[in-house]
Amino acid sequence: MTIRQLPQVAIEAGKEIDMERIRVKIKDIIGVHRTGFELLKIAHKMDSSVIPLQILHVLVQTASFYLGLLFTAELIDNLLEGNFSVAFLYGGLVVAGTLCFGMAGILLAGSGKRSYNRLMIGFYIMTREKAIALDYETMEQPDVVKKIARSERTAKMHGSLQSIVTVYRNILESLFTIATSVGLTAALCFAAPETDNRVLAVAARPAVSAAIVAAFSCTAFGVYAKVNKRFVEKNNRIFQSHTDVEMKLGYMLTHILRDYKAGKVIRIYDMKEMLLGNFRKFNTQSAEFFERWNDAGNQGTLFRNTVNGLYVVCIYLFVAVKALAGAITIGAFTQYAGALTKLAKGFQDFVENSAELKKKCIYMSDFLDFLNTESSHVKGSIPVEKRLDGEYEIEFKDVSFCYPGSGEMVLKHVNCKLTMKNKLALVGKNGAGKTTFIKLLCRLYEPTEGSITLNGVDIRKYKEEEYRELFSVVFQDFKLFGFPVWCNLAAGYERDDKKLWDSLERAGAAEFVRGLPSGADTVLYKSKEGGVDISGGEAQKLALARALYKDAPFVVLDEPTAALDPISEAQVYAGFNEMVKEKTSIYISHRMSSCRFCDDIIVFDNGQIIERGSHERLLSIRGQYAQMWDAQAQYYVE
Ligand code: ADP
Repeated sequence: MTIRQLPQVAIEAGKEIDMERIRVKIKDIIGVHRTGFELLKIAHKMDSSVIPLQILHVLVQTASFYLGLLFTAELIDNLLEGNFSVAFLYGGLVVAGTLCFGMAGILLAGSGKRSYNRLMIGFYIMTREKAIALDYETMEQPDVVKKIARSERTAKMHGSLQSIVTVYRNILESLFTIATSVGLTAALCFAAPETDNRVLAVAARPAVSAAIVAAFSCTAFGVYAKVNKRFVEKNNRIFQSHTDVEMKLGYMLTHILRDYKAGKVIRIYDMKEMLLGNFRKFNTQSAEFFERWNDAGNQGTLFRNTVNGLYVVCIYLFVAVKALAGAITIGAFTQYAGALTKLAKGFQDFVENSAELKKKCIYMSDFLDFLNTESSHVKGSIPVEKRLDGEYEIEFKDVSFCYPGSGEMVLKHVNCKLTMKNKLALVGKNGAGKTTFIKLLCRLYEPTEGSITLNGVDIRKYKEEEYRELFSVVFQDFKLFGFPVWCNLAAGYERDDKKLWDSLERAGAAEFVRGLPSGADTVLYKSKEGGVDISGGEAQKLALARALYKDAPFVVLDEPTAALDPISEAQVYAGFNEMVKEKTSIYISHRMSSCRFCDDIIVFDNGQIIERGSHERLLSIRGQYAQMWDAQAQYYVE
């Protein structure tokens, strides 16, 4: 390569870099609008009036401004020329236009607000609907949970779909403004001077005017766009740095400081100083964030106002030159000065709203990702046969399982058939895999290896909801909700008082519910107005009653009596046969004495079935079951 060739290569390399930068920028812009349009489509689906209303509003506002400018210019010129009747007509048009457009604007703004409310509510419903439609296994994944949390936080901090519609509305308005103002500015530039003053005549010549306007507009807009970008980036950096602190603050408020039940632990373990110390620290960090955020905002506003002020001064000087040169009338002076000032405003709005759109699209892409999250479960289509005799046969065939995101198999090669209308107990040490076995049985998770069959067909092939209809389950961490008692029991089914009281009776909860202020209509938990708090044992009885109310062929109870007092526990066991008669029942218990009542016992250890049989048989083989039995028996004997 010769030395003479170098500059050429450098220029070409420079061009290439520039082209690459332009390509990246264009790709970036296309990406933002693709996200933006996808969000607009969702908004339109939720409320088909929202976008037409905003477009109409923009048209009304633009027409109102420019017609106002035109009519005012005509009014002034006719007044100066002494054409009072024409001036009067234009005056009337200005007043009528202001009134009509003003009224239309108010009506459109009102309708716009109502459709924005619908979008806001629609967003939350859509997020929840999607979350509930996803299978449990997918919902448990940390990245899915994060996506929901982030989309809802974005909705709170930045507005959700309605803010995207607003930004597009503002962009459209700025584009209309720019187009109309450019048209008027061109008319101003091409207006020929009529003066003997040579300096004014040269300055007001169309070509010179166009060059002047182009030069200072491009300079002002160029500087504006560049510096504004820096302010936006700075603002985004500050905002993102705060996310972590805000989440910690939110957690402390919702789960610790506002939850009066946490107060017990806080007082007993003297956690007050530790918690308040953290709370003060996070609040200080948050206050610092808002200070920095405000400072950055104020600096941006100061900069924008300065550029705007300088630009407006130049505009007025330039339009004054055109007026002094006789190129335009005094009336047209107000019209053109207004149009050029509006051009600057249109440009600023375009730049600011484009940056805002990019920011919102980045945040809202979490929401889109979440909407596009697919359930990992196979969607089965076979209906489950409704058998009144409850003769269903379920079999685990060489089932192994590891939880999503964990490499460890917590169930290993599990093989077993569930005998119908039997009482089956699952026993084993903590962490042996009993609850996981139940979760797989209920299809909350799918086996990693092997399969589970119902009447010989893989359960994945059945309609998921229909398959789940077969099970009534009381998990250890059962949940009751802040609704009336009856609502907690009936859950998704019709209220049937006879069935309700029968279930409460069988679960040993009828007496306690009768004693509540409004019986079965009493709302649970004090956090709800008029609500009552109940004990752990009472809650467990209600959870049992809910399982009985569902009246499914399989009843699964995970530690069904853990929170019950000895008398209630004895009552539950005494009534257990009655409770689950004609059903297949499976229950997990650490109270070995309760296993005696079961026809069949499976012993889990380290994710595997190590023993199976009746109580007597398992005692006779002297394995782990016998050890567990002996360990507890010493407390019962004597
Ligand atoms: P058991 O009911 O016998 O006490 P589990 O079935 O609850 O045992 O748990 C079996 C193993 O699976 C344990 O090691 C537990 O830590 C693990 N495990 C349970 N739930 C999850 C989960 N959601 N994600 C990851 N691992 C889990």
